[in-house]
Amino acid sequence: MSKEILIVDNDEIILAGVGDALGEAGFIVSKARNGLEALEQARRHPPDLIVTDLIMPVMDGRHLCRHLSQDPQLSHIPVVVVTATIAEGLPSAHELQEMGAKAYVAKRRMDAMVVDILDIVQRLDRAEVDAGPPVMVGLEDVRPRVIARELLSIKRHLDTLLAALGEAVIEFNEAHQVVYVNPAGVRLLGRSETELVTVPIASVFGDPIPAAIRRMEQSGGREEFEFRYGGQVLKVTMTGLTEENRPAGGVMILQDISHVHQRLQEMSVLNQVTAAFTSTLDFPLLLRLVMEQVVELMKVEAGSLLLKEETGELTFAVVLGQRRELLQGLRVAAEEGIAGWVASTGEALVIPDVRKHPMFSTRVDALIGSETRSALCVPVKTAERVLGVIQLINRTDRTPFGEADLALLSAIANHAATALESAQLHDQLLQTNQQLLEAHNQKNKFLSQLSQEVRTPLTGILGYAELLQDKRVGSLSGRQQQYLQNIYGSAQHILKLANDLLEFAQDDVGRRTLFAEEFSPLAVLEEVSALMAPQAENKGITFSVQGEPRLPPMRGDLHQFRQILLNLVSNAIKFTADRGEVAVAARLRDPGTLAVSVRDSGIGIRPEDRQRIFDPFGRGQNAVARRIPGVGLGLTLAKRLVELQGGEISVESEGEDRGSTFTFTLPVTPLAPVFSPGGSSPGTPSPPRAGS
Ligand code: ADP
Repeated sequence: MSKEILIVDNDEIILAGVGDALGEAGFIVSKARNGLEALEQARRHPPDLIVTDLIMPVMDGRHLCRHLSQDPQLSHIPVVVVTATIAEGLPSAHELQEMGAKAYVAKRRMDAMVVDILDIVQRLDRAEVDAGPPVMVGLEDVRPRVIARELLSIKRHLDTLLAALGEAVIEFNEAHQVVYVNPAGVRLLGRSETELVTVPIASVFGDPIPAAIRRMEQSGGREEFEFRYGGQVLKVTMTGLTEENRPAGGVMILQDISHVHQRLQEMSVLNQVTAAFTSTLDFPLLLRLVMEQVVELMKVEAGSLLLKEETGELTFAVVLGQRRELLQGLRVAAEEGIAGWVASTGEALVIPDVRKHPMFSTRVDALIGSETRSALCVPVKTAERVLGVIQLINRTDRTPFGEADLALLSAIANHAATALESAQLHDQLLQTNQQLLEAHNQKNKFLSQLSQEVRTPLTGILGYAELLQDKRVGSLSGRQQQYLQNIYGSAQHILKLANDLLEFAQDDVGRRTLFAEEFSPLAVLEEVSALMAPQAENKGITFSVQGEPRLPPMRGDLHQFRQILLNLVSNAIKFTADRGEVAVAARLRDPGTLAVSVRDSGIGIRPEDRQRIFDPFGRGQNAVARRIPGVGLGLTLAKRLVELQGGEISVESEGEDRGSTFTFTLPVTPLAPVFSPGGSSPGTPSPPRAGS
């Protein structure tokens, strides 16, 4: 029976010449144009002998030999390599050994080559070639070529690079079959190169690759994308190859970027966690959400957050995992188990096998019927103290916890600590605020009760004093009159104090309802001047009131306007020595604003006191030093009332003993919302009015 010979060469002339000669010699000849075609044909129909060229596109003779020798169906087929590079000493002795060909024939004149090949075929038949080193023939007819040697060494260098590359490289031909896979590709795909070569690339990878190849062929450029392969995330860079302007397949470089993806996912969870921590103060809910994310991200069977109590004990605040309800709220002694150790030392623990660990306590496992294998436990701590711990149990894929897990969980725990601390501070602040508010209210209640109580008997004292002064119950001696005057003055003073206190104590002063009615500011000025004139007179003070003649009527809270004026005028008289001067003037600053100033020639105000005197209980140093009575509420009230109506109050003083001028402004028409006296707005409670 005739022997079948497969001839492999990309040179058509050799293919035809050698093929014809072998055919004439009685062999059945089949032909292939490169190693890949040859391998496919051989797999379909194994020949008795393969005669192959060495340097060919797509797959060269060396690779063909390797794939043949690794394929159990084909490894027995003898190979004869016909090569033009044999004269250059290539393949080297070592490569010849590796290729495992039976004989090497130098490429030269066709007739000489055919004679050599036929001779070798016969020697193979007679089993003369089997043993010993490979046969080499025709070497004497060819000369080494420097350029070929250089090209071959460049190719070898590239081959070495590809083999050493960390990235997977896969080459495919125009029919989208795998032509070459480097060792990194073999590792990545978990299949040998021989298993992969000639296989359609679509059956190696799923859909995304053929689709990308089509896109690449259409655009003629590069494609870059990521896709999932098995459990990995691969980044693919695909470049098209051309040969004489025709598409000739392409090369894919695949990088396993699963770890980058995992890190990205972790970063995004960390981000979410941080955002969540700052977004709500519903802390129990927040901690639960964060723990859920941690457990999912880190792929663990169970996770819990334990908070440290003041006693040092730990309480399970959030528990995730099987039978969690049994643990919720459970307390752990200060140094019990891994969590206790972490909480008391503030150090994290990564434990691959807890059963061998001296600190492991079996209590929880016994309680919920679980089996802790490995654990990761980190403290939730600020610079000063440990607030609790986060503990993760058993990874679902049974791998032990590593340094990366520790770093991620520690970062989350740090954020948790900051948030936990600020939530606790916030709670404390709320509590303190509440207490302060209560104390404040109590104080105000006390002050208003006190002033109410004081006012009633005072009104009596003043009434009786007036009766005596009017001489309705008989005449008084000069001295008696003087004493009565003192009694009257002191009682007036106490009444003013009581009134100021009462106004101040109404803690809703700032929110008090404004009443609007029309009144003439000039009329109020005169009313106040009549009221205060006797006091001024007593001290021999020149007291004048000057209103711009055509001051328009204004709308506003008459009571408050009077109160402000009274406070300023009575201060002016009080802080001016005998025979001084007090002048009140009112004018329009602009068509919408009334400005009233109260000027005196009194003790003046030191620059450093100018702000303070408007604060509650703030008094000028010179007033205190001179023992001028007062509590420091009159200006506070005046300022509040002025501002409440949209005005401003200020003071000018050249300094001590150089007099002062207080000026306040008020809008001529009030700011909304206001109510007319008499209850134009039914149901609105009347504001409290303290008598002056
Ligand atoms: P009191 O008069 O009860 O001290 P006020 O709040 O009315 O409270 O005044 C606060 C302080 O402002 C006074 O103690 C005083 O030091 C200073 N002050 C107020 N009015 C004058 C003024 N006309 N001349 C000098 N100092 C003044």
